[in-house]
Amino acid sequence: MQTTVEEEFFCVNHPKEATLLRCSKCLNPICGRCAMRTPVGWRCPDCTGAVAGRTGYYVPTLLSQVTSQQYLKAIAGMLGVAIIGGIAWGQFRLLGDWGDWSFWFVFAISLLSGEVVGRISNERRNAQLMWIAGTGVVIAALVAALWTLGISNDLEPSQWLLYLGEVPSRRYLGFTLPNAFFVVLGALFAAQRVRE
Ligand SMILES: [Zn+2]
Ligand SMILES: [Zn+2]
Repeated sequence: MQTTVEEEFFCVNHPKEATLLRCSKCLNPICGRCAMRTPVGWRCPDCTGAVAGRTGYYVPTLLSQVTSQQYLKAIAGMLGVAIIGGIAWGQFRLLGDWGDWSFWFVFAISLLSGEVVGRISNERRNAQLMWIAGTGVVIAALVAALWTLGISNDLEPSQWLLYLGEVPSRRYLGFTLPNAFFVVLGALFAAQRVRE
């Protein structure tokens, strides 16, 4: 007959917690707070992919797990949308009276940014992707302003600050409160596309 001697260990994640439990895979001692019940026994957070949350450990859903390669692709796609969309937006502003209606570009760009980030990341959804999609709209707004200001007006960068000081110029560039409102709205809209 086999006898077992119970030996007390301390949890690898919580060194003050004494425990008798070990992870069934890596055999690290784990306490009741971080042990995850699986079909093959109790396992530690590392061996289950669990992460610490506000109320304890939990295993993120597969769809919210994004590889660094997927992040890079999502960021590259977002930058593409932001730069091309921003240039189109900035060019549109130069077209006389229609320039006042340029904020509609925000909606097109936010739609595209969310769509591209969603598709390129293989339809993953999490908070980081929400930030990436939203940032695309903000970068597009900056690109649009730069395009209108510098590239199309042949202005030296040293003149930009003088230009920005004038209220009519600021309006021309789209640096207005309503436009800022639409940019924020667009960023939130883009982020919704990849919300978990
Ligand atoms: Zn383990
Ligand atoms: Zn623990």
